[in-house]
Amino acid sequence: MEELIVSGLAFLGPDLEPRHARIGVQNGRIISIEETVQKEGERWICPGLFNAHTHLGDAVAMDLPSQGTIEELVTPPHGLKHRILEATPYEALVRAMRSLLGPMLASGTHGFCDFREGGAGGVAALREALLESPLHAVILGRNGGETTGDGLGIAGTRDVPDQTSLVQEVQQQGKMVGIHAGERDPYDVDDALSLDPDFLVHCTHATDAQLKKCADQEIPIVVCPRSNWQLGVTDSSRFPPLRKMRELGCTVFLGTDNAMFVPPELFGEMSYLAYVYKLPPAEILYMATGGSAFFGSPSFIEIGAEAHLIVLDPAKAGAQTSRDPAGSLIKRLGSHALERNVIRARHP
Ligand SMILES: [Zn+2]
Repeated sequence: MEELIVSGLAFLGPDLEPRHARIGVQNGRIISIEETVQKEGERWICPGLFNAHTHLGDAVAMDLPSQGTIEELVTPPHGLKHRILEATPYEALVRAMRSLLGPMLASGTHGFCDFREGGAGGVAALREALLESPLHAVILGRNGGETTGDGLGIAGTRDVPDQTSLVQEVQQQGKMVGIHAGERDPYDVDDALSLDPDFLVHCTHATDAQLKKCADQEIPIVVCPRSNWQLGVTDSSRFPPLRKMRELGCTVFLGTDNAMFVPPELFGEMSYLAYVYKLPPAEILYMATGGSAFFGSPSFIEIGAEAHLIVLDPAKAGAQTSRDPAGSLIKRLGSHALERNVIRARHP
């Protein structure tokens, strides 16, 4: 019986309300939460971060000096990253993806959802990279990868049309379907919504009506702001329309997208959101943690939840005098303040 007690200022429940608490963990689940009093030098305890959208395979083209449109760089089948991926031997791909898992762990991530290119072989490569890692992954394949992965990750209904029967097949198997939509313009969002996906990625240029549909149909949106800026699909804090998403009641999660030019590290993404989009810190923290719902139920700090917790030392960032711990956590703390990343052991 594996037991653990952590105490400090904990961001509790889905509201991420900071409370002085003592949290008991047994066999990978939170079994007790007791309120305590503030103590000198206390740690901050936050749910483990969940990166809701990655393409770790892009690491094979990491920081390649390149300029180009979104089509030239990342659109299948002939975008630069796809050409490089095609030419990369299997073992080199495994090594490149594995090299990112340590930094993800060290920056407080416990799980992620990856869109894996390269069919069944691509999915197998990520599974192999993950063998020695405690990280939890949802792997969405394509071109056959959906049969061996956890579901289907569609590049976009415009780039890959006529996916209806495949999507239905995947859904009948109880697997997940995620679709890139609205990254360049709103014209592929309705088609994506008509497939009844489990979530959409981007919605950078989705219309109000499309966002309302996402809210009404409870389809979460994964936004990737740094990727959007890098690829030139936005140059304004109005896109992605995060304030509108919030106003309409959309569920929004955070992802880092292409590992080719954005590190799969959520503290940087949260900080970027805080400064550029100026959303309330607790909401940003929700976006970086709530995607763990992709595993069935989210791992917020609640009794009965899977124990995925990060323990941070605010003193490492000089944040002991903070008047807003969630704000300071997002803007000031990062890997350097992370003391412990508690992750529930994966089932075999
Ligand atoms: Zn993507």
